[in-house]
Formats: sequence, structure tokens, C-alpha cells
Amino acid sequence: MLVARSIDHARRAVAEARAAGQQIAFVPTMGALHAGHTSLIDAARDSSACVVVSIYVNPTQFGPNEDFTIYPRTFEADSEAAIRAGTHLLFAPTDSEIYPVNDQTRVHPGPLAEKLCGPYRPGHFEGVCTVVAKLFNIIQPDIAYFGQKDAQQALIIQRMVEDLRMPVRIIVCPTVRDPDGLAMSSRNARLAPKDRAMALSLYKSLCLARDRLIAGENSLGRIIAAMRSTIGEHAEIRVDYLSIVDAATLETPLTPAGRLLIAGAIRIGRTRLIDNLVVDLPTA
Ligand code: AMP
Repeated sequence: MLVARSIDHARRAVAEARAAGQQIAFVPTMGALHAGHTSLIDAARDSSACVVVSIYVNPTQFGPNEDFTIYPRTFEADSEAAIRAGTHLLFAPTDSEIYPVNDQTRVHPGPLAEKLCGPYRPGHFEGVCTVVAKLFNIIQPDIAYFGQKDAQQALIIQRMVEDLRMPVRIIVCPTVRDPDGLAMSSRNARLAPKDRAMALSLYKSLCLARDRLIAGENSLGRIIAAMRSTIGEHAEIRVDYLSIVDAATLETPLTPAGRLLIAGAIRIGRTRLIDNLVVDLPTA
């Protein structure tokens, strides 16, 4: 596995692979790699001869009071995990490669970014779109892999690629969970054992909503109230939101029908966790 810290180095490596006729698959990450990330790398390897993984903790997607400074940075372990997963090129740029002096251009997403996490993380999706656009410009992949775990992010990236006419195919892979159901996240490493049990209540609330929707319950208000009470048993948890929305538009439907996204975000201390499930109901 080649490790590139500079844009030049990464571009040269990608150009060689392309000259050899290889398809380029790309998996952008912020590191602290776990089985969720490696599932994306596996999928990339299945599709393409050249797999590029990036590790970059992107400052512009963190708010001033968020966890940028304490976000886990585990480069040695990550690079071993990337090798084991079959990565060909690991791009781990320095800050000045991504945000040079005088950098000022930002990619501003549309209304999809105002839903769900939007109001709780102002500027977050602009930071995500900006860094992903830069990474796409640097690597110029044919295909890029994202996780359903960050469903809103995946939708916004798909929108950006479509709107800005970027020649890259976006593939969204299923959420990888621990055996107890907790969605894997780099932030889980910061959960104490007692926090972990609380974190699971988010997943339990999503399952409850899914089961009620499948059973034909049609009051979204009642379902969300039941989700809240599943989580409400834990006083230390702050709920940012629990929502049931159209999976494509993120709008709240009048009645539950079609493909719905059940999504939630909670905070346990300084750790913010998100999770979601998709449910397919008969169309209205
Ligand atoms: P991150 O390092 O958290 O920015 O995540 C990098 C990529 O991995 C994003 O596309 C995430 O959606 C994806 N990802 C993170 N956690 C999981 C998971 N548990 N299952 C599947 N994909 C994930």
C-alpha cells in the first residue's frame, strides 16, 4: 500500500493505475477505521482494481463547540487496517494540501442539508460537501463509497454529484452494527460501558418505529412519542431529533407510505451519535 501525503503524490499514483487501465474506487474517511469503514473498502475492492482510501479529519465540518480536537486519530492502526482490507493507495493529506492559505471557496448544499442534523450542526454539510468535492477533484475516482449510517450525508453527496455534474458514481453501503445492534462509529470508542447501554436505546427506538410502521400504525406523532419514551428512560441522554421522513426528500410525509427513513441523533455527554433505519411501506 502506498501512502501519499501530498496531492502530487496521490495524483501520480492514481494516474499510473489509470494508465494501466484500472478503475479507481474511492472511500473517503476521517480515520479511526472500524468494520463499517472496511465494509466500504471491501465493496470498493470488489468493483475496482485500484482502491483509494483517504483519511482526513476535516476541520470545516466541525462546529466551534464540537469534538474536532478530541476526534480519535489513530493513523498507525488505520494504516494497518487499510492494508488488511486491500487498499492500494492511502491518501492522508496535510491540512495545507486541503485548505491552502487564502482558501475561501465553499460548496453550499441545498435544502436537504437543512433537515435532520442540519439545524443542530450549522455549516456541517457545507464542510462535508467542500471536502468531498476537493477529494473528488484530487483523486478523480470512477466510483465512490459511502455508508448508509450517514444517510443524510450520502443523499447530499449524491445531490452534489448530480448538480455539479461530477463524473463519479456514488454507492451507498449498508450500516455495519455491533452484535447488539449499535451502529459502528469512530465515536463509540469514547463511550464508557454505561454510556454504551444508553447509546443502544437510539437503535431500540428506531426498531420500535420500524416495527410499528410495518404493523400499520399510521400516526407518526404517536410513533415518535413512543421512540422518545424508549430513550427517555435515560436521563443523561439529550435527544437532538427523532424523525420519520421520506427517504429521498427528507420531508415529513402526511401519512406513512413508500420508502421512509427513521432517523435520530442523541448526545451522551460530548459524544453525538446518529443512526437510522429504512422501511419500505406500500405506496399510498
Ligand atoms: P467517517 O470516518 O465517520 O467520516 O465515515 C467514513 C465513511 O464510512 C462514511 O461514508 C460513513 O457513512 C461510513 N461509515 C461510518 N460508520 C459506518 C457503519 N457503521 N457502517 C457503514 N458505513 C459506515
